Amino acid sequence: MPKLSPSFSAFEVTRSIEHPELALAWELLAAQHAANLQRLVDCFLQPVRDVAGRIRVLSGYRPDALNDILPSASKRSRHRTGLAVDFIPDHFDQFALFKLLAQGQIEGAGWDRLTLYTSRGIPNFHVDLRPWEQGPQRGRLYTAQPWQEVTVEDVLALAA
Ligand SMILES: [Zn+2]
Repeated sequence: MPKLSPSFSAFEVTRSIEHPELALAWELLAAQHAANLQRLVDCFLQPVRDVAGRIRVLSGYRPDALNDILPSASKRSRHRTGLAVDFIPDHFDQFALFKLLAQGQIEGAGWDRLTLYTSRGIPNFHVDLRPWEQGPQRGRLYTAQPWQEVTVEDVLALAA
């Protein structure tokens, strides 16, 4: 199983925790989807890992069959093309990390949409990248439940 960066293996961003039988091995990914995952690791996950320590990827690439059976997944989810991951830092406060990212204090970490949402009582992150052909990354920030776009000031006011 190839390593995508010093801290991330291909397995981490292609496995499915809930439906392992529907995951697709790295070797079977479309070239564009593999390139997208590599970009996500290089342009977001590894820079965040360098600051926040160990990161657990909860959901990365989702083949259509996997995305389709997840009740909460958008049909147009960027997970389908390897441009999105859900994750939690293991040893770093989620709100503190959200603030660092919102303030642009993690060098090399860029994104199109970054969401802090709660799942099973735990704050999780969803991050996605915009396909190159659609334009530059917008660096948007969201919170979920309810899903809403928030400002940097809103993020800084979040409880730690
Ligand atoms: Zn997600």
